[in-house]
Amino acid sequence: MRTGLLRRIERNWEQELEFLRGLVRRPSTLGNEAPVQRYIARELEEMGLKPDIWQIDPAEISRMPGYSPVEWPYESRPNVAATLRGSGGGRSLILNGHVDVVPATPEHHWTCDPWGAEISDGRMYGRGAADMKSGIAAMIYAVRAIKEEDIALEGDLTLETVIEEECTGNGTLSARARGYTADAAIIPEPFAQTALEAQVGVMWARVTVRGQGAHAERASGAVNAISKAYPMMEAVKELEAKANAAGRPAYFAGHEHPLNYNIGRIRGGDWTSSVPEECTFEVRIACYPGEDLKEVQRRFKRHLMERAREDSWLSENPPEIVFYAFQAEGCTVERSEPLFATLGEQHRSVTGKELQFYSFTGTTDIRFFNLYSGISATCYGPLGGNLHAPDEWVDLESVKSVTQVLALSIVEWCSSREPLSDEGT
Ligand SMILES: [Zn+2]
Repeated sequence: MRTGLLRRIERNWEQELEFLRGLVRRPSTLGNEAPVQRYIARELEEMGLKPDIWQIDPAEISRMPGYSPVEWPYESRPNVAATLRGSGGGRSLILNGHVDVVPATPEHHWTCDPWGAEISDGRMYGRGAADMKSGIAAMIYAVRAIKEEDIALEGDLTLETVIEEECTGNGTLSARARGYTADAAIIPEPFAQTALEAQVGVMWARVTVRGQGAHAERASGAVNAISKAYPMMEAVKELEAKANAAGRPAYFAGHEHPLNYNIGRIRGGDWTSSVPEECTFEVRIACYPGEDLKEVQRRFKRHLMERAREDSWLSENPPEIVFYAFQAEGCTVERSEPLFATLGEQHRSVTGKELQFYSFTGTTDIRFFNLYSGISATCYGPLGGNLHAPDEWVDLESVKSVTQVLALSIVEWCSSREPLSDEGT
């Protein structure tokens, strides 16, 4: 059976690549996820599955733990899931992938078309090629191979493709509200075929600094909001230095700088000869697993307000600080989880190497499974580079390898029979 499955994945490889190209060529940035979700649903249908396509209902999930408040609507931005029913008795599994990608702007900084899915030297280039459309292709083609080989599973297997992993996680949260559950979950995020065992917590903050607008000829008597934003940004960096200087959990001992307070957006002013009335910047904040998000927020606000009091204008006109989108707690997974035994075994059988563990200084959707649903979850996906940067790429050999490891892991996990052997192929 093992040989047949691996041979099937090999035989389907060109088709899997073509499917991956189709994913990358559909730019699924925030608000534009529908075309890629329809494309995936068609593929699932063609494989004989019945995709469930639904729209996130913020009212339904807003009281669930892990919910992130948003400022945008959910119309025409579906989630997709499909379950392959097992015959009963085996363990169940969810394979989850996010279809949303971050913007590719400025596109002229790319040496290739960010939406072109170009292949060169064994790599595919494009926004989302690594993060994480190749993981989605791998999980779907692992299931396709199992179906085409007529391998009967005992436990149920669910495929989920969700939106908003890059800003809230509300897509995966909504799949929990929808009732999809299992004994374990794997998310094929591009972590170079390692197994994720820890990730930091992430939040987004928006800081709005007021000025006093005027014509530039009277600038010396006005208050420039952009200039007043400087000390507030410095305050953010001070806080970041303090957070990283403090003791860190063993999971992150190998990371030089685990907690990144990233000033990711800035907006201020509207005319070069006008003194800007307002400047807004947004920060991605990080914290360790186990830290209380509300406490991290309080610390952030307190520090910025303290710095604001040192400035005569800012003390009278304190910045407005709002937390929105990501409210992601950090999380860890025990190495003793049975899921790691299965993944480790199949990783070794395909690559000949021991499975390595990884601690991520970002967030992934595994938190919804591990923290709030009693489902043990990890990430295991291909090797990629330049994530969230120009010229993002994925190593195609690793995509094939992940497809194989996932297919073998699904069969082992969802069957109560003895470990996979070549007998009966
Ligand atoms: Zn990702």
